[in-house]
Amino acid sequence: MPSGRVHEAINLSVLGVACVAYIAYKPSLGLSEPLALAFAGSYLLGTFLVTPDLDLAENRVRAKGRWGVVGFFWIPYGLMFAHRGLSHTWLAGPLTRVAYMGVVGFLLYGLARALLGYLGVHLELGAHWQAPPSDVLWALVLGYYTSQWLHLIADGIWPDTDFRYARRRRR
Ligand SMILES: [Zn+2]
Repeated sequence: MPSGRVHEAINLSVLGVACVAYIAYKPSLGLSEPLALAFAGSYLLGTFLVTPDLDLAENRVRAKGRWGVVGFFWIPYGLMFAHRGLSHTWLAGPLTRVAYMGVVGFLLYGLARALLGYLGVHLELGAHWQAPPSDVLWALVLGYYTSQWLHLIADGIWPDTDFRYARRRRR
């Protein structure tokens, strides 16, 4: 099983090749820079900060360390997910981490709102929130998923694992 450092090196090498290909074939690809940047941004996020190995966050793990002082927020995720279980599946695995961040973010927002409300400050982020255009959103999703899939391939896990996992669960 590759270490966190090896996973990062693999992902960065692939991104490097993709960057060269993008620059070389840019005119014929018709892919705008904002889309390429959105892809690369979420790809890097998935390479360094939100990796499948966070299922080990109850221990020392590279990605958790990269979060610095807020790395401990991942410990419940590590406790909830067995190493190389659902967290290491192709479709649901990456989603579990996004959903987890969503839940933690929502709870923190609620807490901040309640505390500030207690102090008489009204916090309302919803009013300023605007979803990015759908093509940017897709580039973000694709970048994140690609980084996760490369991790799984390096771990020797192929898409058929999802089916086997589902079957094992049903039994
Ligand atoms: Zn792994």
